[in-house]
Amino acid sequence: MPKKRDEEASLTKPHSIRCRFCGQKNAVKADFKNGDAACGKCRLPLSDEPHKKFADLTKHDYVHPLDSKALAALRAIPGIDSALRKLLSVTGEAALRVIFTASSVKVTTKQFPDLHAKLQIACTTLGVDMPEMFVQQSPLVNAFTYGSEKHIIVLFSGLLEKLNDEETLAVISHEVGHIHAEHALYLTAARLIEALANASAAALIPGSEIAKFIISAGINSALLAWARRAELSCDRAGLLVVQDPHVIGRVMMKLAGGTSASKMDYDQFLEQGREFKKTCDEKALDKFWATWINAGQSHPFPIWRVGEILDWVESGEYQKVMNKD
Ligand SMILES: [Zn+2]
Ligand SMILES: [Zn+2]
Repeated sequence: MPKKRDEEASLTKPHSIRCRFCGQKNAVKADFKNGDAACGKCRLPLSDEPHKKFADLTKHDYVHPLDSKALAALRAIPGIDSALRKLLSVTGEAALRVIFTASSVKVTTKQFPDLHAKLQIACTTLGVDMPEMFVQQSPLVNAFTYGSEKHIIVLFSGLLEKLNDEETLAVISHEVGHIHAEHALYLTAARLIEALANASAAALIPGSEIAKFIISAGINSALLAWARRAELSCDRAGLLVVQDPHVIGRVMMKLAGGTSASKMDYDQFLEQGREFKKTCDEKALDKFWATWINAGQSHPFPIWRVGEILDWVESGEYQKVMNKD
């Protein structure tokens, strides 16, 4: 019968689907189901689900209350902004740029084009001008945002090897979140102070005298206490881009366990996060944090972070931001 032949034809005829993240048109098989194939441009899974881009997201829509509280305490220290700007100018924020340009591979439309597309997705979703992004060879599963004037995002190769495409988008979006939430000046200063906590590094950095002053004025401990809490806000920014809490959860699991996801039970990990949040003592965490930095760790407690992100989703606050025009 002719009707049956038409149905058969439509089942085998390829059609196209527009990537919900980057907008690229992709040819797919007629029997395509969501998640079957990846976009040729950004490599994220293709799906006909919508992806929200925010028209006027402000940091107040998602900033974690612990972040705003710690930031207010930090800003109350007299002269802090000028001291930190001085630290950055003498330690050479400009030098950081030279270091990254010389030792890392710059992400462009031709070099790591899928990472470039992911950066573009994060920036258009949150409403941020595109910063420069670099990939640096390092076994650490980590990423950073630097620069108080011109922002730079650095992704470590160890991170890219461990994470899948959606998880990589989550990390890039977390970093873009630092720019959107205007964390960059304090965050760059915090990273420098972390580096200075290592005595041999302090001797090499010409700003160490100012750094010593900052430490004696108590700016460093307030700054590091804030920096840890600022991560919670940017995990939320990451979620606002990937729009699936479990992608953030799996990133945290890989940050915590460091091994391949197939060896870890995700549900058990979530349970661990929930339990941790119930008994979490902030002051004790601050104490541990100091030791943690000395041990060379820069990003805090994935277990704590997953508990916090689950809480934000379960409170309905996440959905409220998603429903914003
Ligand atoms: Zn795409
Ligand atoms: Zn961060």
